[in-house]
Amino acid sequence: MAHKGTLLVTGGAGYIGSHTVRHLLEIGEKIVVLDNLVFGHREALPMDRISFVEGDMSDATLMEQLFTEHQPEAVLHFAAFAYVGESVTDPLKYYRNNLAAPLVLLETMQRHGCKRFIFSSTCATYGNPVYVPMNEDHPQAPVNPYGASKWMLERVLRDCDHAWGLKAVFLRYFNASGCDPSGEIGEDHDPETHLIPRILMAATGEIPEISVFGTDYPTPDGTCIRDYTHVCDLASAHAKALCYLRTGGETTPVNLGTGRGFSVKEILQTAESVTGKTIPVTYGPRRAGDPPELICDPAKAKAVLDWEAQYKDPRSHLQHAWQWMTSAGKGRYPR
Ligand code: UDP
Repeated sequence: MAHKGTLLVTGGAGYIGSHTVRHLLEIGEKIVVLDNLVFGHREALPMDRISFVEGDMSDATLMEQLFTEHQPEAVLHFAAFAYVGESVTDPLKYYRNNLAAPLVLLETMQRHGCKRFIFSSTCATYGNPVYVPMNEDHPQAPVNPYGASKWMLERVLRDCDHAWGLKAVFLRYFNASGCDPSGEIGEDHDPETHLIPRILMAATGEIPEISVFGTDYPTPDGTCIRDYTHVCDLASAHAKALCYLRTGGETTPVNLGTGRGFSVKEILQTAESVTGKTIPVTYGPRRAGDPPELICDPAKAKAVLDWEAQYKDPRSHLQHAWQWMTSAGKGRYPR
């Protein structure tokens, strides 16, 4: 095993970042988190076990200080905005935060000779599916600025590899869901737009009902099908990607998903069974930009990273998320 240095985790106080930090600590990694706490939560992090820098990766002075002090061996880059709808109405916000800001991070990495990068990319870089399950060779034609900003950064990373030998893994996540089985950390977005937390919010009465966006899709029950990937599985994939880079892996994209799809109605039925509650539902029109079906082909993740999802059944995602929602904090970090 190659020498283990400090890992810089940008956006480590966010949903997927904080679960990954927890996993990396469990396997003995040393971590510095950079987070501006715009969407992240201080309470999602074990502050006594990590170094924490509050700030922005677009702050060149701060980045220089951070790299001088901690000399990170690799960067795991989670920090990004991720509201697809907002990216359509305010594209510059997305290109500034998801594309321009990481350039300062990369410039600092280049100066300091840090050449390992694990990037939180997304299946949204593919745009509308031409076929499912989708492998990494699927054409990339993003249909919104969020997906485009991630796709463009992938291109930047390839060019950095060509120019100065940066090695990157683009982890293209499918639908992240669930939370740590302990119920101690979880998903807390404001506003919350994702299906599983909204269903559970309807179950607790925090919102009056869940609206199903479209029942006329060309799927068996008419509702959209997604590949729900447990956040702890995503976390373990980052550790595998790190191992891949430490042992000389080349720059490459890897899809992260289970390879199985579930419809909105199936998720709803499972949520009723897990919570033991009747969940109030309304059936509404389609949401703009939602493809009928997104399913990952995880073969490359298995072949290249030796990774496969452990939580393939969304029932476990719902059970863990329900535990978080019904914990003392009721699914919220202190504000
Ligand atoms: N969805 C829904 N009602 C909601 C939120 C989501 O019917 O309140 C549907 C959405 O149309 C999609 C699926 O649930 O088909 C997953 O949506 P989510 O926003 O969780 O993730 P996305 O697929 O957009 O990344």
